[in-house]
Amino acid sequence: METTRERIIKILLSASEPLTVYQLQVLINTDLKPGELYDELEHVKKTLKRMGYRLGVIPPVCKSCGYEFRDRERLKKPSRCPRCRGERIEAPKFFVTSS
Ligand SMILES: [Zn+2]
Repeated sequence: METTRERIIKILLSASEPLTVYQLQVLINTDLKPGELYDELEHVKKTLKRMGYRLGVIPPVCKSCGYEFRDRERLKKPSRCPRCRGERIEAPKFFVTSS
């Protein structure tokens, strides 16, 4: 039996485009909620690093003003835009690179 973490890694390694947690949720067929998947991804990030890969992140973007959330510590989707205070945020997308 593979763990959720292993399934996430396998899917990210074989994905042809960056994926959101919502897409991952469907692809790994899990009961985990998006918030829990962001926590899993924090561990996936460390595991990938040990494997010699890097978890890449397409930053979340505010749908109202276009503000880009760059250089964030956490992977989780922010709840509110610091520039316009909008709450419609495009979710971050994840991919794997070899360096
Ligand atoms: Zn905004």
